Amino acid sequence: MMTNQQSNPEPGASRANGPIANELSLSLPKGSLLELLEMSTDVVFSLTIDDAKMSYVTPSAVEVFGVSADELVGTDQRWFEMVHPDDQLVLKSNLSRILQIKNFEHRFRVVHADGSYRKLVGRFGLIYDPQGKPVSIGGVVQNVTDDHKAQLAESQAVYHSLVESLPISVFRKDADGRFLFANGKFCSEINRSLSEVVGTTDVELFGETLGRKYKDDDDWVLKTGLAFHDIESHPDADGNILHVEVLKAPIVDTEGKRIGIQGMFWDVTARQQAEQALRDAKEMAEQASRSKSDFLANVSHEIRTPMNGIIGMSELFLENSTIPAQRERVEMILESAESLLTLINEILDFSKIEAGKVQLESQRFDFRNKIGDTLRSLAFRAHAKGLELVTEFDGEIPDEIIGDLSRIRQVVVNLVSNSIKFTESGRIEFLVKMLEQKSDRVKLKFVVIDTGIGIAKDKLKTIFREFEQADSSTTRQYGGTGLGLAIASKIVELMGGQLNVESELDVGSTFSFQSEFLFGSHGTTRQDRELVRNRRVLFCVGDDRMRESLSTLAERWSMLAVPAANPEDAKQNLLKLNELSRIDDQGESQIEILVLDSSCDPENQLLNWIDNQEALSIPKVILLTPTSGFQDSHQSNRADIVQRLLKPAKESDLWEAFRSAVLTESDSQESIVVPDVIAAPATPKRVLEILLAEDNIINQKLAIALLSREGHKVQLAKDGLGAVALFKQQSFDLVLMDIQMPEMDGLEATAEIRKIEKADDSNSRTPIIALTAHAGTSDRARCLAGGMDEYLSKPIRAKKLYEIIDQQTGMDSSREVAQSDSAITTTVVDWPVALETVGGDSALLKDLIQVFLKERASMQSLIESAVNDQRGQDLRVSAHSLKGAMRHLGATTTWQISGKLESLGDAEEFDVSEAKQLLVQLDESLNLVTNEFGRFLE
Ligand code: ADP
Repeated sequence: MMTNQQSNPEPGASRANGPIANELSLSLPKGSLLELLEMSTDVVFSLTIDDAKMSYVTPSAVEVFGVSADELVGTDQRWFEMVHPDDQLVLKSNLSRILQIKNFEHRFRVVHADGSYRKLVGRFGLIYDPQGKPVSIGGVVQNVTDDHKAQLAESQAVYHSLVESLPISVFRKDADGRFLFANGKFCSEINRSLSEVVGTTDVELFGETLGRKYKDDDDWVLKTGLAFHDIESHPDADGNILHVEVLKAPIVDTEGKRIGIQGMFWDVTARQQAEQALRDAKEMAEQASRSKSDFLANVSHEIRTPMNGIIGMSELFLENSTIPAQRERVEMILESAESLLTLINEILDFSKIEAGKVQLESQRFDFRNKIGDTLRSLAFRAHAKGLELVTEFDGEIPDEIIGDLSRIRQVVVNLVSNSIKFTESGRIEFLVKMLEQKSDRVKLKFVVIDTGIGIAKDKLKTIFREFEQADSSTTRQYGGTGLGLAIASKIVELMGGQLNVESELDVGSTFSFQSEFLFGSHGTTRQDRELVRNRRVLFCVGDDRMRESLSTLAERWSMLAVPAANPEDAKQNLLKLNELSRIDDQGESQIEILVLDSSCDPENQLLNWIDNQEALSIPKVILLTPTSGFQDSHQSNRADIVQRLLKPAKESDLWEAFRSAVLTESDSQESIVVPDVIAAPATPKRVLEILLAEDNIINQKLAIALLSREGHKVQLAKDGLGAVALFKQQSFDLVLMDIQMPEMDGLEATAEIRKIEKADDSNSRTPIIALTAHAGTSDRARCLAGGMDEYLSKPIRAKKLYEIIDQQTGMDSSREVAQSDSAITTTVVDWPVALETVGGDSALLKDLIQVFLKERASMQSLIESAVNDQRGQDLRVSAHSLKGAMRHLGATTTWQISGKLESLGDAEEFDVSEAKQLLVQLDESLNLVTNEFGRFLE
């Protein structure tokens, strides 16, 4: 600025006539303000309003424009031509609008006479005369070019110090892969100076292999424009593996062209090692957990074998001993052993689930019936404690559900048993609700509600953990292991749900879970639903919930339900509806069926009253009785009771009861006999020749004792080799084969026996039952795959052993026929199946059997003539009808043979000789069945 001053020794003199000078002179001593202005380092100027010509400018303009003030003033817009072309447009537009906008600020560049440019910040505004008329544009321009440079220099310094102080290596390379820059960390890592690095390539610095890889990565970044991220591993000089994390990105110029890459890398060896250590630790922990579960499973198996001896021998002892003191002690041994076995089974189950070894099965089952059966077995315990067990299934639930019945049962039994255990008075409700139905699946919610001791809030979470009990004092009072809920909640999780609990101390608890199931059939269309439509049924049931759920059920079958909470209510309703039906026979119908909860009318008050009502038309009575005290009930012999149902009544039983109540002749006094599901007709037992292969001396004694007690003859082999040798010498009806034996194990021995049978050509196959301490489903499958027929897990329980023997020896019809009459076993007819067909109604079963006996000859001759005349279609139809009858009556073998005949008849050109062989078998089996039925009728 001083130079300006010096170059213009008389500032303002040459321009004293300019408008600004004139104006300023008005208020300041002449020349003083102008001098002041001309000292400014900023450029001060004035422009004409019309064409923006410069009329005055301070000498400082030379700094910005590179030409003197005189050269700018008056010349045709020279100053404007020196504005950077990119900035002219906006500036011009603002100047042309100055009268409207009055003033503006503008950043623009000026191209200096030497070709470089200056960055300016200018403020423009109107200048007015004393009358307020705009006379010119005034402006002040500040040169900010150098400010920017300083900023740039400063930010470069910051950047540099940052990059140099980073604990990571930073670099830049050009598009050919030559280093442009590397920070100190980089240089020290590779022991080179920056000048040695700049200009070299990766191949020159790191050798061919690594250098190529780096170059390839760089090329990828240049090609794709994407960031590259990798963790590279290299051995160091000592052979230790180093892990380096690398990030690379493209350098892009102002035109968007990729002109190189910049990147950084840093050592992550410690982090990688820590992560690896963590993975190793996790793997080890999982392995340890698996080993723990395996160990538990193995220990449980090992304990089962000696338990076998303790339980079996105790049972045997109790059968023979009559001395009370001895019996008492042995009973205690047995009880302890039983609870130990329960615990072992639970631990085994839990460890299997924990180890992920449990897979749910998918089977079709009749949901209401099967779960109903389960609840009925629990009802014994509830009723024995004086508790009501109420069940309710949503009407919409399909009849057939696909799922793992035994696991669902396990959870239901656990929850309901707990409720019974922890409830002293009140009741337990078991509800199944349908939450959602999709095309092939339903979401069900199971709820168990009790009025028991409840669980403290702080314990609600922990009770689902293994070995956790809400209150350790309860263990003493109620027993238990604390494993039940842990197992139940794991099973529910496997089923895709979650076990929940809500509870209040001394009020009760509610356990619930939800799960989705595929379903099979959606409600069988019950042909005779019409039978019960609009029949009026009175429910005299004390428990509100039970009464409600029974009424809902009846209404679902289109019956008219009348609820009554006590005998008095019931009487009122009976009288009222009887009267109404008489007055107007178009309107109300009378009550035809009375469902009476025996505990609601213990003194027979209602039934006696009904007997004495002459005007009343007597309803059929269905009595609901508790499972305990059933036989002693003084109501049990009343003739007007058409059906007795154990509580909680299963839906299917109630249905059957309604059906038979409606079907029974109205004047019939011969009531249906109380079902006696347990008593099957006694038939003489057959003496079997049994081969026992077992190495453990206690098990040998136990098995021999159990088998001899049934009158069977037992030959003992101490190992597999001995068993095979004995089998070669004589024929047996059955083989009991331990799996783990010295010399030759059970599976090998079985294979040998099967070979002998094949070579023998007699086509006989002796049932072989595996004995083993292993209780898993895979063990069973292994035994069956190994040629065995059944599987008995130790400890051997007498009942189970006898059942399996009966089942195995009864199945073999060819051997049966070869025997004398005494060969008939109870398994010729599966009585439980037969009784299930008639809902336990033995009188009805008798009727059905009589019908069958009458029809047998004609059914059989239809089949025979169809075979002889080779009429496939007729064979199929006639065999099918016999098959159906046999299936319902539990005649398994005959059912199977008629099934084979039926499928032969599928083809018109069937194999007649095969069919004739089947006819012989059919005749033999029908004879056996007829005999057995005959005995039953007697
Ligand atoms: P336990 O064999 O001890 O019954 P569970 O795992 O089945 O083992 O139950 C754990 C604990 O949860 C029980 O000991 C009891 O304290 C509590 N509990 C479970 N069900 C109920 C219930 N219905 N009412 C009150 N407490 C319950």
